[in-house]
Amino acid sequence: MTILETYRRRNPRSAALFERAGGLVPGGLTHDARFAPPFPLYVERSAGARKWTVDGQELIDYWMGHGALLLGHSHPAIAAAVQQQMERGTHYGAEHELTLVWSDLVRSLFPGIERLRFTASGTEATAMALRLARAFTGRPAVIRFLGHYHGWHDGLAYGMDGDLTPPAGIPGALLEATIPLPADLEAVARMLRARDDIAAVILEPTGASYGMAPLPPGFLAELRRLTAARDVLLICDEVVTGFRVAPGGEQQRAGVTADLTTLAKIRCGGLPGGAVGGRAAIMARLQFGDAAWNQAQKVRHNGTFNANPLSAAAGVAALREVATGAPGARAADLGRRLVAGLNDVLRERRLRGWAAYGDGSIFHVLAASAHDFPPGELPDNLPLAELKAGGGRETLTLLRMALVNHGVDWMRGRSGFLSAAHTEADVAATVAAFAAAVDDLAAERGRSEVV
Ligand code: PLP
Repeated sequence: MTILETYRRRNPRSAALFERAGGLVPGGLTHDARFAPPFPLYVERSAGARKWTVDGQELIDYWMGHGALLLGHSHPAIAAAVQQQMERGTHYGAEHELTLVWSDLVRSLFPGIERLRFTASGTEATAMALRLARAFTGRPAVIRFLGHYHGWHDGLAYGMDGDLTPPAGIPGALLEATIPLPADLEAVARMLRARDDIAAVILEPTGASYGMAPLPPGFLAELRRLTAARDVLLICDEVVTGFRVAPGGEQQRAGVTADLTTLAKIRCGGLPGGAVGGRAAIMARLQFGDAAWNQAQKVRHNGTFNANPLSAAAGVAALREVATGAPGARAADLGRRLVAGLNDVLRERRLRGWAAYGDGSIFHVLAASAHDFPPGELPDNLPLAELKAGGGRETLTLLRMALVNHGVDWMRGRSGFLSAAHTEADVAATVAAFAAAVDDLAAERGRSEVV
C-alpha cells in the first residue's frame, strides 16, 4: 500500500469530517497553518505528549498547541486551576486579582516589562505594539523583516511570506507605512540613516518562523544598538520564544532589553490570550488623563476577553512551573536529542539536501532541498524562500502523511515543538518513525499521487 492509501485507509472519519467542513468553513480549515492535503486530521482528545484522532489513532504530538503547550496537554496544575476558576466564574465584567499575580510573574521574568496590557491573542499584541510605538514616537513607519510572522492583522501582513507581493485585502497606505527588509543589519542601518519617519523595528528574535530561518549570532544585540542610536523603538515579538528558549525569552538569552515585548501562547497556559509590555513611559499612552489627553494622546484599547479569568488561571499555573526554568530545559534537552537522532537517520541513508536543525525545544526539517549539501549539515547561506518552504513540497506532503502513518504528527512535516511532557522514549519512537517514513518515501520515489 502507498503512503497515501495507508493514510486514507487509517483516517476515514477525518476525511469525512473534512468533506463536511468544506461546506461550512472556507477551505474546511480554521487556521491556514493546518492546510494539509489531502485532508487534515481531526483530533478528539489529548494528554501529555499524545493526542488521539477521531479514527482512534494515537499520535506523538509535536504541534503542542502551535507552541503554546510547553508543559504538555492538560497539565494537572493547569487543568485544576481552570476547573476551579470555572466554578468561580468565567467573566466578571470587572477587574480581578489574578491579573496582578499574572502580571507580577511576567514582570519577574522580563525585566524590560515595566507595565503590561493584556490582549486576546498574539496578533492583537503585535497590533497594539505598533499602535503604541506610533503614538509614542509620532512617526508612522515600521521596519519588519521579510518572512517574520507577527500574526495576521493588516499592519504586518506585508512581507510576512518573505516576498514583496502586496497581500490581498491590505490598503496601499498600510503598505507604505511598512518597510519590509531582509534580515541584514547593514540594510537596517542604511534605512535608519535614510528615513526619519521610522517608529520601530519589530522582529522574531531568533529568526523567521521561530528560527526556521535562523538569525546570525549577535543579530539582536546589534539591532538593539542600531535602534537605540537612532531613538527608534525595538519591538521583540516573543509570542513563541517567550518562556520557551529561556524563562525570560530570547531577550534573557541574548542579554538584550527591548522597548516593547509581545507575548502569548505559553504565557496563557494553553488558553487564549496575549500581552504587550515594555517601558512605563510608552505603556503610559494607555492611561486615562484629562480630556485633551484622552482625546488626542491616549491609545484606545478595549477587548471583551482581555485577561479573562480562565486564561489568567491557566497562565498563572503555567508560569509558576515555567519560571523555574526546569520545563524549558527538559524540553530543550529532548529537542537536541531529537535533532541529533533525525540527522543520524539522514546520514545513515545518505540523504543529501536533507537536514534537521533547531533551537532547543524547537525543531525544523528541511526535506529534499533544491540545494545540495551533505545530510544533516544545513548550510548557513540558503535563501529565505528555501528555508521557509522547507524543501520539496511534494516530499513534505508525503513525509507528513508517512509520519502520521507511523504514529507521529509534526507541523506540516516541517517543524515541531517539544514539551516537558515528552520522554526519551517518545524521542526514540519518533526517530524510528522518521526512519520508517523516509524509507516509505524512498520506496515511492518517482510516483506523483499528491499534487
Ligand atoms: N507572533 C508570532 C512570532 C507568532 O508565531 C504568532 C503565532 O503563531 C503570533 C505573533 C500570533 O499569535 P496568535 O496566533 O495568538 O494571534
